[in-house]
Amino acid sequence: MSGQINAFEMAQKQFDGVAKQLKLDAGVAEVLRFPMREFSFRIPVRMDDGSLRVFQGFRVQHNDARGPNKGGIRFHPAETLDTVRALATWMTWKCAVADIPLGGGKGGVICDPSALSTAEKEQICRGWVGAMWKNIGPRNDVPAPDVGTTPQMMGWMMDEYSRLVGQFTPGVFTGKPLGSGGSLGRTEATGYGVIYHVREAMKHLKMDPKKSVAAIEGFGNVAQYAAIGFVELLGGKVACVSCYDRHAKKSFTYSHKNGIDPRFLLTIVDEYGTINQAKAEAAGYVVEDGDAWITKDADVLIPAAIEGHVNGDTIKKMSSRVKLVAEGANGPCTPEADEFFKANKIFNIPDFLCNAGGVTTSYFEQVQNDMNYYWTKEEVLSRLDTKMTEAFKGVVEMSEKEGVYMRDAAYMVSITRVVKAMELRGWLAGTW
Ligand code: GLU
Repeated sequence: MSGQINAFEMAQKQFDGVAKQLKLDAGVAEVLRFPMREFSFRIPVRMDDGSLRVFQGFRVQHNDARGPNKGGIRFHPAETLDTVRALATWMTWKCAVADIPLGGGKGGVICDPSALSTAEKEQICRGWVGAMWKNIGPRNDVPAPDVGTTPQMMGWMMDEYSRLVGQFTPGVFTGKPLGSGGSLGRTEATGYGVIYHVREAMKHLKMDPKKSVAAIEGFGNVAQYAAIGFVELLGGKVACVSCYDRHAKKSFTYSHKNGIDPRFLLTIVDEYGTINQAKAEAAGYVVEDGDAWITKDADVLIPAAIEGHVNGDTIKKMSSRVKLVAEGANGPCTPEADEFFKANKIFNIPDFLCNAGGVTTSYFEQVQNDMNYYWTKEEVLSRLDTKMTEAFKGVVEMSEKEGVYMRDAAYMVSITRVVKAMELRGWLAGTW
């Protein structure tokens, strides 16, 4: 799905670079370069027209040294096992950098959810659990939503798992709907988490948020709340957002001369992140090509769509005003883009640090499920802010101490924590 580079090769390349700098033992590096377990399975679905269609499902468990595997399930037409491997690997680093006691996993189904009926989607969700239920659970692997999946889908999946094990088990999936074991604040969590990092990075770079402009790629869950957060929590302006239009089957950029109003756009976007173009134009929005978002005159870029979109080609169009890139998506910037940022002293908040707010709140959701006692939204978001701020500071300290780029520093923090956990569990002493 990365277009230019295989996402798993990219994840391994990033890891290899840091493993070398950390002088990691070759055997230990070999353990971490690959997922520990992978599942690939078929999900038969009786379609509404009576035909039988078979969907391909995946789950990859990268590493569970620090706790149960954790990570979303994506429903996407271009899903591949390699993309899921990359995303599972990044989840291990994400949970470690946020210092939550969880490992890394990711799942997927090759399908286009916008082309399926509710009943068909429910069957895919229940079929996914039917294939995986013996290998997931609150103590071994806890999936969540991601691109193309929703809280309702997590509700069905949790129900199917509970039915199969004969016990109400809310902690097996996170990102569930409110009223069915979900946590307040989970909807906002990833986007607001991005903004807590942006706030800390701006303090570090001595930038004034109120005088800053952001350009955002995407208008799914992460981008929506990053846009709202940039405007409402930081007082900045958002020049544009982009979105994949499922009717036109291409992306568009939406900008407004006064800055976009994310709360308004939220009223005209469908559940798949497609903005109603006619309504946007009627409200004075300018609609351009999907790549136009990166060309906007902005101080901050927030790529919050999917992997590989900030690459050797698109960075050539980037405004020279950009000082900060906050990676809301997983893997949005390719190694070529990284080289460009390093050469031009552009501060980068790497994906698995920047978007860790989602999984951190998933962890809070699980904690609440275990206690069977639920926090207020303020409580959830304030705990999230504390966690993200601490994580950001830890990575900046590492970056300054080792004189390395932020992505490498985040890897150093994470890899060190994961290797320590493997050591403490005796995994590196010949028990494998
Ligand atoms: N899918 C989100 C991510 O990539 C959240 C994962 C989770 O909550 O487990 O971080």
